[in-house]
Amino acid sequence: MRILVVEDEKRIADFLGRGLESAGYAVDLAGDGASAMNLVYAADYDVIVLDLMLPDTDGLTLLGKIRDRKSSPPVLILSARGGLDDRVKGLESGADDYLVKPFAFVELLARVRALLRRGQPAPEKLQAGDLCLDSTRRRVTRAGENIELAPKEFSILEYLMRNRGRPLSRTMIVEHVWDMDYDGLTNIVDVYIRHLRSKIDDRFPVKLIQTVRGIGYMLDLPERTPEPASER
Ligand code: CA
Repeated sequence: MRILVVEDEKRIADFLGRGLESAGYAVDLAGDGASAMNLVYAADYDVIVLDLMLPDTDGLTLLGKIRDRKSSPPVLILSARGGLDDRVKGLESGADDYLVKPFAFVELLARVRALLRRGQPAPEKLQAGDLCLDSTRRRVTRAGENIELAPKEFSILEYLMRNRGRPLSRTMIVEHVWDMDYDGLTNIVDVYIRHLRSKIDDRFPVKLIQTVRGIGYMLDLPERTPEPASER
């Protein structure tokens, strides 16, 4: 997986380059629009991380040029401009995601990973241990038992299951499940996760929804499954 980081602020570019490389990606850095376009023509990237304010052009113009190519990768915009209008404009210009500076690296990494997964076909039936979610029939079962979920609970669970094993930040969950005007109200995610846990985890020995400190939540089987003999 190859990632292009277009960022003129050297400190941020180096920080991103190092972080993404240690996460196992090949990373190229471009400090301005012209060298970014040279790289885009020369190599195939899986994701482009694009700063909006560049010395020779602005990121949205560059985004338009990238999008003019036959096959263009997902683009994550990085910007100090965090207003709702800016974010909507960025997404309407063809960006796939938008992250406001300053940001935590874990958040950027989670978003990059979500973008990398996007090209893959979405299975209709998702499974984690004995938890099954059928996205077509909107049905959830655990250990064969039917579980009733409210629509938002279902959406959050589906998002977690589609990204199984990957930490998702509260902001990502809010943006995925609610409209953008929920900006800032990420506590609501904790409330819904509590509801979800009471329905899919509390009664079962193996807990699937995990809290990831400093970022948010992840759904996966715990590393070590408790001994079934210790029940009752
Ligand atoms: Ca900049």
